Amino acid sequence: MSDSLDTRRLVPGDTIGILGGGQLGRMLALAAAPLGLKTHVYCPDPESPAFDVATTYTIAGYDDTAALELFASSVDVVTYEFENVPGPTAAHLAARVAVRPGPRPLAVSQDRLHEKTFLREAGIPVAGFIAIDEAAAVAPALEKLGGKGILKTRRMGYDGKGQTLLRTPQDAAGAFERIGRAPAILETFVPFEREVSVIAARGMDGTLRAYDVAENIHRDHILKTSTVPAQIDGGLAAEARGLAEAVCDKLDYVGVIGVELFVLPQGSAQRILVNEIAPRVHNSGHWTEAACHVSQFEQHMRAVAGLPLGSAERHSDVVMENLIGDEVDGWAGILAEPDACLHLYGKAETRPGRKMGHVNRLRPLRA
Ligand code: AMP
Repeated sequence: MSDSLDTRRLVPGDTIGILGGGQLGRMLALAAAPLGLKTHVYCPDPESPAFDVATTYTIAGYDDTAALELFASSVDVVTYEFENVPGPTAAHLAARVAVRPGPRPLAVSQDRLHEKTFLREAGIPVAGFIAIDEAAAVAPALEKLGGKGILKTRRMGYDGKGQTLLRTPQDAAGAFERIGRAPAILETFVPFEREVSVIAARGMDGTLRAYDVAENIHRDHILKTSTVPAQIDGGLAAEARGLAEAVCDKLDYVGVIGVELFVLPQGSAQRILVNEIAPRVHNSGHWTEAACHVSQFEQHMRAVAGLPLGSAERHSDVVMENLIGDEVDGWAGILAEPDACLHLYGKAETRPGRKMGHVNRLRPLRA
């Protein structure tokens, strides 16, 4: 890829290519439109919700080099809505068109061992971890980490999948089999009080913008609510935002990133550890759509287009609630609430555990 491709700023009328056609791609495409930018969504699933709102779309596999070629030639920059973009797909595209964020954040976030190693080397606090490549390695690693841990597959784990909790040294037996004998890491169990996240953005010129910290509640391993502000002290919140910005800088990142953190007690105070990073817009940042001047989606489109970043200021307090499975059937009641902002993803089929939409409930900003 030539330098000029890598640094070109888009202008209204240009096209952003988006890999992945789920709800995140849909919200990215919606946010591009007011900037005068067109979108081209690429996804193998013919039922992709993002297709409804994109300027154009391609239905093809991520290994279809002919389709990727055509896609690359039709767009001015490529971004993605999911971190498991296959490495060869990203490399194929990056040889033809700017890919932002770049292939490196993808490679780092696709593999928990690379991710945790990168974070530790960057001076970001993370839980203790040890690489596990065989069943016999689990018991000694668990002992080293204090007898309680979580075994996680290095790749393709999300929403608690590919993980097993080891409460006692005896749980080491059979643990590697339970996660499918895949290369893994064992992490120290973190006795966290709260789970929080920071959405941050970095522009092509290195400008950083971190949004306020959100406090996240999961149900059945799926995000249920994000509440802003999080109930943590101001110093800790500033530290969390600073860590997210440091991650962006260390990755020479362009775009929006989601950084998930644990808040744990330390004496009478609290401290934070980074759990994982997602090189994309993030579900725990959907609150920015209604409570901020510039949403994470517009911010990401601005960043990857090389445009000036917008304000990440928050004008309201907010609780974002995911509508999962048939909860979406309550849409009419939500529309009747005066301070609720409903967003439905237009998915054809409702399934248990499927994210069907979300609602942001706003309250006046507390002084
Ligand atoms: P992850 O896939 O790494 O985001 O993990 C999914 C969920 O498992 C997190 O949101 C936490 O609730 C829990 N979890 C993950 N890692 C740890 C850990 N090291 N200690 C305690 N809980 C964890």
